[in-house]
Amino acid sequence: MADFISKSLLKEKAALYGVGLDEKALERFDIYARLLVEWNEKINLTAITEPDEIVIKHFVDSLSIFSAVDIPVGSRVIDVGTGAGFPGVAMLIARPDLDITLMDSTNKKLNVIRDMLENIGLEANVVHKRAEEAGQSKDFRESYDFATARAVSNLRDLSEFCLPFVKVGGTFISMKSAKADEEIEEGKKAISVLGGRIREKKTFNLEAAGERTVILIEKSSSTPAKYPRPSAKMAKNPIR
Ligand code: SAM
Repeated sequence: MADFISKSLLKEKAALYGVGLDEKALERFDIYARLLVEWNEKINLTAITEPDEIVIKHFVDSLSIFSAVDIPVGSRVIDVGTGAGFPGVAMLIARPDLDITLMDSTNKKLNVIRDMLENIGLEANVVHKRAEEAGQSKDFRESYDFATARAVSNLRDLSEFCLPFVKVGGTFISMKSAKADEEIEEGKKAISVLGGRIREKKTFNLEAAGERTVILIEKSSSTPAKYPRPSAKMAKNPIR
């Protein structure tokens, strides 16, 4: 079968972020893109369906995480609000050594993820839960080296969703496009209350797709037991 995506484009652009992709990984990305477009006809997963755009705006964007932070072999990573698998599934294809949990509150999307993982021949822990509920469970709380999130919520609420999952000493990686500075300003009190500390902010241009910012938040102390709160409480009484 002919390739669906341009593997050479993906290989070249991923290399700009220090990510080397072998033929096996490129083939897996090809299957992933094909299934993404197929499934998207049945359930709404993404507005991005043109192969070169999938390569840049979904795959290379997800892989850019590796240029922002060193993720040691075998790290435990939770991708919160993974949707169609970004950045979590893309990270797993590039780094099958990672122990990845893909969490989302929408089971329909996770069924797609399960199908994709089976077709690309990789395993992850696929969890259908709301982050604010899972964050209060000992099965998930403070058990991950890294939490990632792209396009899920504003940084303040996202920190309440994600920081409880991270072990002290671990890192929450928040992927943002525009307005990262405003979000940092609005979220910094919450980050500190939740046991985090902003370590670094890395901004770069994702080809023609525009500016991207990866915010690295270190977990410097345990999250107080009352967080995360139910989302209605978060909305009514945001940390400020
Ligand atoms: N991260 C993916 C991406 O960048 O393409 C998906 C982004 S999509 C806009 C947001 C996703 O977060 C949705 O799949 C939604 O179901 C999920 N989500 C929203 N709130 C959540 C929560 N409280 N717990 C878990 N997942 C949540």
